Amino acid sequence: MSKVTFYNTLTGKKEEFKPITPGVALMYNCGPTVYNSAHIGNLRAYVFADVLRRTLEYSGYKVKQVMNITDVGHLTSDGDEGDDKMVKALKRLGKPMTLPAMREVADIYTEAFKKDLQALNILAPHEMPRASDHINEDIELIKTLEEKGVAYRISDGLYFDTAKFPDYGKLGNINLTGQQAGARVEVKSEKKNQKDFTLWKLSSNELGFESPWGKGFPGWHIECSAMSRKYLGQPFDIHTGGIDHIPVHHNNEIAQSESAYGVPLANFWMHNEFVNMGEAKMAKSGEDFITLQTLKDHGIDPLAYRYYLLCANYQTPMTFSWEALFATNVAYRNLLWAFWSLSGDGNTHTEYAEKFEKVMNDNLNTSEAVAVLWELIKDSKISKADKRTSIIHFDKILGLDIVEQSSTHCGNMVSSDVPEKILKLIEERENAREAKNYKESDRLRDLIQSEGYEILDTEAGATIRKIPRASVRKIF
Ligand code: AMP
Ligand code: ZN
Repeated sequence: MSKVTFYNTLTGKKEEFKPITPGVALMYNCGPTVYNSAHIGNLRAYVFADVLRRTLEYSGYKVKQVMNITDVGHLTSDGDEGDDKMVKALKRLGKPMTLPAMREVADIYTEAFKKDLQALNILAPHEMPRASDHINEDIELIKTLEEKGVAYRISDGLYFDTAKFPDYGKLGNINLTGQQAGARVEVKSEKKNQKDFTLWKLSSNELGFESPWGKGFPGWHIECSAMSRKYLGQPFDIHTGGIDHIPVHHNNEIAQSESAYGVPLANFWMHNEFVNMGEAKMAKSGEDFITLQTLKDHGIDPLAYRYYLLCANYQTPMTFSWEALFATNVAYRNLLWAFWSLSGDGNTHTEYAEKFEKVMNDNLNTSEAVAVLWELIKDSKISKADKRTSIIHFDKILGLDIVEQSSTHCGNMVSSDVPEKILKLIEERENAREAKNYKESDRLRDLIQSEGYEILDTEAGATIRKIPRASVRKIF
């Protein structure tokens, strides 16, 4: 088992990963709230979790991965204010205010989410528990918290008393003064402390589940505490989510689970940075709502988006830009072409494999791993067969589906499809290149591209293929 090091938000430093049970890694990923499609920012959280799982598996761990589906109880504000997001979806879609209708909406977006995972070549988690199937587990956990004297009742529900958990805010060492009454959200006067949070929210309109406290919904945080315990036990090894979860959701999970059972919730906490829209926040509505389908409509391959994410480390904020995505789409195709031009079964190149593993095992340095991959491709001292075998090996972690995709994309290239006019331009370009007239050869390349064809200079020589229509329009 090779040594793997991760940045742990709990301790604020990089640490060697030490599992609870040797050879096994138990991991929980906070999953999507299924009131709408996932936006591409959300999907970064799951590509990150997938790369983490693949890295652990590559290192020899048996991973158990649990990703929940939040289909009840997530309010629009972290501060226990606003509507339930699922109720908002019912209103938006003109559905009746009933639990079966809520489940139906959740089904639609859960299926859409699973399709997104597949399109991004994300391995299916071993369990994907739905919050609405675990109301009893939530109730049991809340009862335990009541028995321990850390919950109290006010008019709209049951709350966790954060003053009873001295370690509150330990994850990410959050500045609690920033969350005092009136600091961020409207003051809810009945709460003992502004940072206290809902365990069970009473329904204001008959919609909800029965409970010892009245009809209503579990709090969003309690769901993750209850489901992670059910499927992984407590403590488990790794808990992940986006950085927005650090100050509230994850600190609240810790407070509940640790108060109830007296042991840590998870040993490692890992958080991905955001994909931002410049100044704006990526949203699940409006113009900044960019889904995988939006990318596909612009001719961008979902796996090129995965590649785009890998080109930055998970702790680096990314700013969305169409230009960068179009460029990555081309780079991804170039990678497929480079692979296509290789043949034979060889050996994984030891030196490159060591380099690759070293950077991945150092807190998932995917940007360096991609650089190592290209270095290998360009290294003329290595045989085609060894390159090919090494790339297949590295792709176990990168998950770019290189073998399948290169065959789909490049295998469809049929030179007889290329019109006479384009072939003529290619010939002219070859002549210009031979004469070292690179200005002219670049001009001809652009001209060929504007006609909807792209030239790829692979090891086997220049090849030509038709560019999918949507990307012709957008890229050039
Ligand atoms: P949600 O469906 O809103 O509960 O979010 C699902 C996951 O996406 C969570 O882990 C969030 O932390 C993460 N997330 C939300 N917005 C972004 C973003 N713009 N970039 C990266 N991750 C995000
Ligand atoms: Zn969660």
